Amino acid sequence: MGALAPRESATTMADRMLQFVRLDQRMPEKREASQRRADFAEIYREFEPDAAKSQASRCSQCGVPFCQVHCPLNNNIPDWLKLTAEGRLEEAYEVASATNTFPEICGRICPQDRLCEGNCVIEKGFGSVTIGSVEKYITDTAWERGWVKAPKPQRELAQSVGIIGAGPAGLAAAERLRMRGYQVHVYDRYDRVGGLMIYGIPNFKLEKEVVLRRWKQFEEGGIRFHLNVQVGQDVTLAELRARHDAVLIGTGVYKAREMSAPGIGLKGIVPALDYLTASNRKGLGEAVEGFDSGALDAKGKHVVVIGGGDTAMDCVRTAVRQGAASVTCLYRRDKANMPGSMREVYNAEEEGVRFEWLGAPEAFRGEGQVKAVVAHRMHLGLPDATGRQQVTKVENSRFELPADVVIMALGFDPEDLPKAFDEPALPVTKWGTLKVDHRTMMTALPGVFAAGDIVRGASLVVWAIRDGRDAAEQMHSYIQQKASTLAVAAE
Ligand code: FAD
Ligand code: SF4
Ligand code: SF4
Repeated sequence: MGALAPRESATTMADRMLQFVRLDQRMPEKREASQRRADFAEIYREFEPDAAKSQASRCSQCGVPFCQVHCPLNNNIPDWLKLTAEGRLEEAYEVASATNTFPEICGRICPQDRLCEGNCVIEKGFGSVTIGSVEKYITDTAWERGWVKAPKPQRELAQSVGIIGAGPAGLAAAERLRMRGYQVHVYDRYDRVGGLMIYGIPNFKLEKEVVLRRWKQFEEGGIRFHLNVQVGQDVTLAELRARHDAVLIGTGVYKAREMSAPGIGLKGIVPALDYLTASNRKGLGEAVEGFDSGALDAKGKHVVVIGGGDTAMDCVRTAVRQGAASVTCLYRRDKANMPGSMREVYNAEEEGVRFEWLGAPEAFRGEGQVKAVVAHRMHLGLPDATGRQQVTKVENSRFELPADVVIMALGFDPEDLPKAFDEPALPVTKWGTLKVDHRTMMTALPGVFAAGDIVRGASLVVWAIRDGRDAAEQMHSYIQQKASTLAVAAE
């Protein structure tokens, strides 16, 4: 705060800020559920400028801002709130973008109730400052007014880096390294840039144009994208290591967790990501093979989604928008114990999703095509060593849910990267994630770094950005150190 405060007295600042005692918390307007059900547009409207200003002024400018402590990027939240309250939006954008590669994306899809806003000190009793919405407002305004610039370095360096994966981890690293002047090459097996931000997360949470415009700007800044390139098949990791001075692996986690149960192979049972990817591709104007006739389109069908995380919420809400006859979420714990963001659960409820809490599937019924999920009730017991309440089956509690489509949203695991990359020396943890030195973010292979979900396991965009930015700093140090060692040796 030091740089902003000296010109004004504490009284003036208190007059402008600390408005939470006078002003109620107000989110940007949410579209009516009936309207939301009919399209894939984002559900929140933009803040009006005055509303953004007044909501930002509710911040009490804490000496120890817990919001910032609990933001994975340690964003300087009090400063950009104060600048917004003062109408100094360009400066607010500079502060917000200094620590975050994609503030407009985090403003939209971070689970703020678990991160910054959930830890805002005025949350208790007054309702937190609407930090995410203000962050989105600042950055959307910056885009509108042309303040967001392509990552162009002041000088070019001869060294190059190879980044595998154009998700948020890879992109955040690419931007940082390009700004330092490196020749940055990003390889991705998909045809578009963005990773799960483009093909996983639905449009009603994150409109695709928001991701696509970043892609365009990164290209303008000189970052080279090599798309439809599957590392391990089209090019080997060894080749990339030979081609570049350092390599970053940011390939995410995609292997859907499976369950074994009678009838699991029936037609109509699909993994969540196949379903969401098809819907996103459709939304991007592509023809998706088998979409209209198969389980990828929920129109007119009875849909059951199994799971209780954010991916399950994305599936139920997508099915509603596709015009499903009914949408039910089957989850083995209760509402209070759902892993997903409560905000998303409320949104789903508003949109007409039915929840079957404390229910677990035991079989799938049908002949060739699934017709019903056979489930039983669960009982919540005492917490275990991790603090999570354990569930046990309630005997003789069987029930059935009619289903033409069953979407399995049970979570994701990493694929076997040492095998896929034909690199047995690439060490993995017992969960299959890549093992890195957490100080340097380097794997056991010299010059090969890793970041994002492939290191953490399925996580959040904001953590992937944080990891990508940190990895970029470590890659820079590594390359510079190598260069100076070579220079000394040559003397
Ligand atoms: P990814 O985004 O998965 O990107 C990895 C990239 O690597 C992909 O583009 C992939 O094509 C590429 N790749 C993989 N293997 C290869 C290879 N061999 N060769 C070349 N390229 C390869 N997080 C939130 O914060 N908020 C949300 O609301 C949210 N919703 C989500 C909804 C869904 C349905 C899912 C699945 C996840 C959601 N997440 C959300 C989590 C978030 O998307 C991830 O944590 C984040 O995208 C991880 O970033 P990443 O860069 O590590 O990996
Ligand atoms: Fe909150 Fe996410 Fe923004 Fe951090 S990046 S301030 S956690 S919305
Ligand atoms: Fe402002 Fe809340 Fe952060 Fe305190 S915790 S600085 S009130 S946003």
